Amino acid sequence: MKPLLDIQELAVSFATYAGEVKAVDNVSFQVFPGEAVGIVGESGCGKSVTAHAIMQLITTPPGRYNHGKILFAGVDLLQQPEAELEKIRGNDISMVFQDPMTSLNPVLTVGLQIAESLQQHQQLGKAAAYAQAVELLHLVGIPSPEQRSKNYPHQFSGGMRQRAMIAIALACKPRLLLADEPTTALDVTIQAQILTLLKDLQAKLQMSILLISHDLGAIAGVCSRVIVMYAGKIAEAGTAEDIFHNPRHPYTWGLLKSVPRLDVNKQTLTGIEGQPPDLLRPPAGCPFHPRCRQAMRICAEYYPATTRITRLHSVNCWLQHPSAPPPEVQTDGN
Ligand code: SF4
Ligand code: MG
Repeated sequence: MKPLLDIQELAVSFATYAGEVKAVDNVSFQVFPGEAVGIVGESGCGKSVTAHAIMQLITTPPGRYNHGKILFAGVDLLQQPEAELEKIRGNDISMVFQDPMTSLNPVLTVGLQIAESLQQHQQLGKAAAYAQAVELLHLVGIPSPEQRSKNYPHQFSGGMRQRAMIAIALACKPRLLLADEPTTALDVTIQAQILTLLKDLQAKLQMSILLISHDLGAIAGVCSRVIVMYAGKIAEAGTAEDIFHNPRHPYTWGLLKSVPRLDVNKQTLTGIEGQPPDLLRPPAGCPFHPRCRQAMRICAEYYPATTRITRLHSVNCWLQHPSAPPPEVQTDGN
């Protein structure tokens, strides 16, 4: 099967007064048709920039695509003229953002907003678009959708607003849905409902989802494959099974230790010590080394080459690399 989205060695940076920030640095991954892939990492790790880059929402300048390809159904989005991109954005790829309140128009009813987007993308008449908007509200689990379609956004709860945003994103029947922290602004119980909704829709509509979150728990419920990002780079990537049950990167270990689990009786939750790196002056070698308890001397000097554990599981960490010198040589007996 050919990938729907194939990102190859993507590098995106931003020019600031203080210097160049390498927000995404040589990132490659694929999303196959009908697959849900998660990108997880702390804020500033480059996960949102990756999603914005796919949608071509990076403003240049100050942003800059330094190199790489973003192949969508075989077409490099970075080489397309704006008119082509607009078609793809409206019809094949759509995005759900973090804050549903600021994304909806407060002076238009929810039904009209969805209908508008249907009219735009599917050349439907007003009445047909409105009828389909009501159907979409039903699809995303809004009760009494006919009546509710006449409400304004402020009459919706946070969870319902996010459902409405998902309905708008689905209006063009996208092949790929990018969801950037879609539940961060919501209460915990509502978060779970929205994640379940995304998973159901993905199965029902056979679309691909790229779910971006700082929360491994959110990713666990929806995604079959997970990419762990740190400092603009991929630290580890694998199936959900690999990442949750056989993680190989110390950063992934840290993320997992900070997620509460229902299947463990007594569990001490620990955060990862230290701060994410300043991408203006990223540390040499492995960017995680200042925070890594397993760090060896080589880690501060050389960026770890990729080690492939299985076909789908890969990790960028010297601990896993067959040609890394043994720890005792590197630590000088310290
Ligand atoms: Fe830690 Fe070294 Fe692995 Fe980086 S390469 S995660 S510093 S052990
Ligand atoms: Mg973000």
